[in-house]
Amino acid sequence: MRVLIAEDDLTARTILSGLLRKWGFEVEAVNDGLAAWQTLQQPGAPLLVLMDWIMPGLEGLEVIEKVRALDSECPPYIILLTSRDQKGDIYRGLEAGANDYIKKPFDNEELFARLRVGQRSVELQTRLLETQQTLSHLAAHDPLTGVLNRRAVLDQLSRELARVGRREGGGLSIGYFDIDNFKTINDHHGHQVGDEVLKCMVSVLVANLRTYDILGRLGGDEFLVIAPETSGENTSLLFERMAKCVADLKVKTSAGEVSVTISIGVAEATKTTSLDHLIEAADAAMYNAKHSGRNQVNFNNGHL
Ligand code: GH3
Ligand code: MG
Repeated sequence: MRVLIAEDDLTARTILSGLLRKWGFEVEAVNDGLAAWQTLQQPGAPLLVLMDWIMPGLEGLEVIEKVRALDSECPPYIILLTSRDQKGDIYRGLEAGANDYIKKPFDNEELFARLRVGQRSVELQTRLLETQQTLSHLAAHDPLTGVLNRRAVLDQLSRELARVGRREGGGLSIGYFDIDNFKTINDHHGHQVGDEVLKCMVSVLVANLRTYDILGRLGGDEFLVIAPETSGENTSLLFERMAKCVADLKVKTSAGEVSVTISIGVAEATKTTSLDHLIEAADAAMYNAKHSGRNQVNFNNGHL
């Protein structure tokens, strides 16, 4: 584990660095509070810190207060190391945000044991954060195709609509699409092959979207594409290209090559369009595309 040592006294810094390296820690050492503060703001900074209290530039306590004000998801474990021993110092140090406090001159074994407590705490915090990130990814993504699920894509649409409402940036279009005769693919080749088709179609579409377009699965064989900064002719080009991209696809499945087409309903938002109206408009256009023969894009040009 990497440890940041912030200590202005050269002798103390050298002794500490040597001890910690001997104990198997990787050491980064700085000689004043400002350098410690700069280091701790960097992404990937050490998560275990030995911080002297009295240092030039910024004092250890000030650095700790600044670090705590960052309100990071993964804050460092900070052990305050100081020769200050006035009544109330421990209270001040811990209240400022230090996790632990060691008085100089320190006992080597005690320092080692306290560093190990810090290491266990950092490791636990890191594991919890990873679990939390995994869970929030799972909660927002469709397990089969890996794209955003219904709730997450609608949340995203609501954020994009709010942006249009504030008149930030250009237009906003959405495409609501449904696979044509998907039941037939399942009936002819089995559900497993249907799944393979869904996965392949989505990965090809994702690869062909612009970086700021968002694809989500609304459920079953229905999907939503959010296309920010898009209006008028650009919208038609985008969705026509998408329908063609799917129609040109020959999905290699365990039952051989399978072709698939989609029907897309498109609607454009204005600054007053509500989410429900926009979805309804695109959904209505999608049904028009189905009724006009499928494998096509239909634009809802009604007033929203
Ligand atoms: P249409 O052109 O009118 O859309 O015809 P369709 O056959 O696609 O009909 P519809 O959209 O109503 O049916 C969707 C089908 O998609 C029904 C369901 O069995 C199938 N389906 C939904 N989710 C999945 C899935 O995760 N995997 C597979 N393999 N099939 C699914
Ligand atoms: Mg369908």
